[in-house]
Amino acid sequence: MTTSRTTRRDFIQLSAAALASTVIPQTGSATPAPDASWYDRPMRWAQLTLVEDDPGKYDPAFWLDYFRRTHSDAACLSAGGCVAYYPTRVPLHYRSKYLGDRDSFGQLVAGCRRLGMNVVARTDPHAAHHDVYDAHPDWIAVDAQGKKRKHWADSELWVTCALGPYNFEFMTDVTREIMRLYNVDGIFSNRWSGSGMCYCEHCRQNFKKFSGLDLPRTANPQDEARRQYLVWRQARLFELWRLWDAEIKKLNPHAGFIANAGGGALSELDMKTIGELAPTLFADRQARRGVMPPWANGKNGKEYAATLGNKAIAGIFSMGVEEPYRWKDSVQSGDEIRLWVVDGIAHNLRPWFTKFNGKVIDHRWIKVVEELYEWHFKNERYLRNERSLARVGVVFSQQTAAFYGGERAGARVEDHLLGFYQALVEARVPFDMVHDHLLDPAQIGRYRTLILPNIAALSSEQCRQLTEYVQGGGNLIATYETSLYDEWGVRRADFGLAPLFGASFTGRVETDIHNSYLTVEKDPRSSSFHPIVRGIEDATRIINGVNWVHVRPHTEPGYAPLTLVPSYPDLPMEQVFPRVARTDTPGVFARQVGRGRVVYFPFDLDRTFWEVLSADHGQVLKNAVEWASNEEQPLRVEGRGVMDVSLWMQKASITAHLVNLTNPMMMKGPIREIIPAPPQQVRIRIPEGRRVNKVHLLVSEKSPAYHHANGVVSLTIPSVELHEVIAIDLA
Ligand SMILES: [Zn+2]
Repeated sequence: MTTSRTTRRDFIQLSAAALASTVIPQTGSATPAPDASWYDRPMRWAQLTLVEDDPGKYDPAFWLDYFRRTHSDAACLSAGGCVAYYPTRVPLHYRSKYLGDRDSFGQLVAGCRRLGMNVVARTDPHAAHHDVYDAHPDWIAVDAQGKKRKHWADSELWVTCALGPYNFEFMTDVTREIMRLYNVDGIFSNRWSGSGMCYCEHCRQNFKKFSGLDLPRTANPQDEARRQYLVWRQARLFELWRLWDAEIKKLNPHAGFIANAGGGALSELDMKTIGELAPTLFADRQARRGVMPPWANGKNGKEYAATLGNKAIAGIFSMGVEEPYRWKDSVQSGDEIRLWVVDGIAHNLRPWFTKFNGKVIDHRWIKVVEELYEWHFKNERYLRNERSLARVGVVFSQQTAAFYGGERAGARVEDHLLGFYQALVEARVPFDMVHDHLLDPAQIGRYRTLILPNIAALSSEQCRQLTEYVQGGGNLIATYETSLYDEWGVRRADFGLAPLFGASFTGRVETDIHNSYLTVEKDPRSSSFHPIVRGIEDATRIINGVNWVHVRPHTEPGYAPLTLVPSYPDLPMEQVFPRVARTDTPGVFARQVGRGRVVYFPFDLDRTFWEVLSADHGQVLKNAVEWASNEEQPLRVEGRGVMDVSLWMQKASITAHLVNLTNPMMMKGPIREIIPAPPQQVRIRIPEGRRVNKVHLLVSEKSPAYHHANGVVSLTIPSVELHEVIAIDLA
């Protein structure tokens, strides 16, 4: 199968690994069947990213044995691109200086095949050596000043243009050669989509041909050239994706190109198209950095699943420290790795460890990953999810990020989502993510409630779909400027969803408001509070958000559970008193529309929650979901602490995941230790007509007492360490 030329030393080590693998058979995986459906087979991935001086210096037998011990059933291995780890014959394809007469890649491929693993070759085309620059200066990326770009981290290297002949011709040759020599199951390309704007001659000419315009010099998405550029670049990258995939399939119809691409609202390539193109996908979010809660890994899983549906999605995690200083050779605390990985697993990511450098420097991660994979292997049956049972969907919108958010998409778009996400985690509501290009009834019909956290840019068609959803009995929660812009980020005269909100735009948006409040109001007719303000009835007033859309209610202002107290001076202290004590300006519209319930907050409640984390705001967001949904969630977990929860259906079972995020290092890792959560009362709704055979806990390995009545299984979990998975076997 391969043309591997191994040295004697490598050969002896490899034989030892092969021998070991025959002594202890892989119980979990059969030899991959040569058909198109391999993509769903691997449950656990292993990635070894070689560094240039690995050949001859690292121990391949260690790695192959580790793959076996961890029951990894697929591997991603460094093949070529920036550095080739096999005896390539493609001109200008740089071979590792340390390769000698070895075939390091081929040797690992052969070892993995003997272990029954699927193998994907890794390429990385983003950097090239000086001989490439000399031979094809036009393959190098050019900056806005017209200068060829040196690599930012290694001055020996050049940054390549992703949209020109370097990728379309040279890397296509590399791709073909790898497939021809090793017949791998796929090619996974890292950093294949470019490293920022390129002004090279190919980009200039191709863009001109496409749009008639010069390349943009601004990042403003309302600039015509910039807007066209976003469309062109995307089209060009999908063209490249299809080219590589077609070339791969010519040599092995069961293999494919798998791009390192995808993500949430801030990701660049349209996830709907990716969902159609990709047979499987790998979420490359290796660890926490900065201020980031551990649920961010589960969020990746949900975002990918929004357009990939039930296709296998692996979650790439690294042991490394992912801060901007990129200490690639160190590792982080074991519990931090554990928490990140189990949160991904709870949201249907198949674990994929990646390690840079074949020479193990810090050994502490080895046991951690082995234990995680051992548990995963043992409980694999309960981790092969068929569908999520969540009844709440949170919409995310790449077009809102690109055309409304632009360079400020993080603050204007993503922070709204993060705030709502945090509130839902705190409220322990199981939920999925929904892509805004998939709002047809087949996609959203399963959700009782849809949440639109400032989904500002929506087309008329999308607004129509959402209106139909509500008319058909769906419930909807929206915040701030949702639907105030069209799909290109151009402001409308009024919200596209004004009839649902029961309010219209007056033309004014206030931002950066200081010292403003919301009065908690009692309904004068019934003398009672609305469920949306439950838990804060005694507050009289709570803090407002900081960005406000002025709206005009469609009907006489009746009762609003929250009303605006306008901003007043916050200094000097003598002046800090409200000039207008009370208004009838609603801070929330909560109404019945047809058969559905709609809640609209004309301010940035979700974004402010992310920034300030006021418990009152969290409570109002939670109440809004509860009131709009008007049903008990299919999974209810009550007890102290912060739990990220999910609920899944497998072939003959249901699993509820409880990930214990209760930790002083929750909002900023790495965690030092796991703090066990106290008892939790759990209620799980059982699909109608199904009988329960057995309830067991997959982490503590106990079979708890449970009660099954009225379609609900209830039980108490005495304690949750890192996580617990409740498995319910159905008859
Ligand atoms: Zn270019």
